[in-house]
Amino acid sequence: MKVPYIDLKAGHDHIKGEIHEAISRVVENSWYILGEEVSTFEKAYADYSGTKYAIGVGNGLDAISLILKAVGFGHGDEVIVPSNTYIATWMAVSGTGATIVPVEPDIRSGNIDPLAIETKINSKTKAILPVHLHGCMADMAAIKKIAEKHRLFVIEDNAQAQGAILDGKKSGSFGIAGATSFYPGKNLGCMGDGGAVTTDDEEIYKKIKRYRNYGSDIKYVHEVLGVNSRLDEIQAAILKVKLKYLDDWNDKRRKIAEKYNALLSGCEQVITPENISDASMVHHIYRIRTTQRDKLRLHLENKGIQTLIHYPIPPHLQKAYEHLPFGKGAFPIAEELATTSLSLPLYPFMEEDKIAYVGESVVSFFE
Ligand SMILES: *Cc1c(COP(=O)(O)O)cnc(C)c1O
Repeated sequence: MKVPYIDLKAGHDHIKGEIHEAISRVVENSWYILGEEVSTFEKAYADYSGTKYAIGVGNGLDAISLILKAVGFGHGDEVIVPSNTYIATWMAVSGTGATIVPVEPDIRSGNIDPLAIETKINSKTKAILPVHLHGCMADMAAIKKIAEKHRLFVIEDNAQAQGAILDGKKSGSFGIAGATSFYPGKNLGCMGDGGAVTTDDEEIYKKIKRYRNYGSDIKYVHEVLGVNSRLDEIQAAILKVKLKYLDDWNDKRRKIAEKYNALLSGCEQVITPENISDASMVHHIYRIRTTQRDKLRLHLENKGIQTLIHYPIPPHLQKAYEHLPFGKGAFPIAEELATTSLSLPLYPFMEEDKIAYVGESVVSFFE
């Protein structure tokens, strides 16, 4: 049996009519940049997120970068980021000229460890940038407490946890602002690049709206230096359709994860995803851990099962960051996760027989 890591078509086939209708509507109107589709999607996404505002931008990296720019970070400022994350979190901070201060994760969740944050805070520290990795929210209560005590901004990288809820609040609504990505494989993905910022702060909202469009509120009038990072009308139209299904598709992800948990429960050599916070998991990624990761991966590949590694090289060991003073061994937990993590296929509408086959194939490797 062939099992792809992700099957976007399986999901889109279920909403094909609505997607085509949405795209046709934009084509018929022939208004492609910053129109009705983007503004109505922004409203819908803000409502969904429980924030006052949402601003559609070009991608997830830009969403983080624009928040950092709007809050006003630069050279000399320090931003606390997870040592274990996708490179975008780090690159957004680098792009502002601020200093990256990595903090190790709790190995169980892979998310930034609040206990380790406080030791890294000094007079230059300006913000904490937690990532809700794999659809599992970081410990926001503890993080906010630390931030309040030291008067730091909290900015959420919510690219992987759209729809997750903690203490009745949606991910992306906890800090001064939240950044998300609509990259096709995300829980809420479009059919190209896209991203958004969520915030309750009117000042941040106004600034980012301006920055994303050449520093302009009125056509050909430029208040500040900006960039071009706009969500486009076709993507916004698609996202409006898909947003309606996000909770349902997240439920589907949860059910698949529960099935995997059950299938793998007897397998001592495998550690299944652990949720150490009270947040609902939205399983962007189903990551297991095992010391025999590479052999298991090969075994699954031979059985037709595609897997991924999130992430094979932690940011501090990337060539792009060789100028920073972090060599091998600097962040041992991130490094261990890079050598023991394996992400199993998981996507809404994944068939029962495929889920069972993946589970059984993992178990059979260890027998
Ligand atoms: C996907 C992702 C991003 C960046 O999103 P893009 O739209 O690809 O720029 C940022 N942070 C995390 C944790 C991500 O997974």
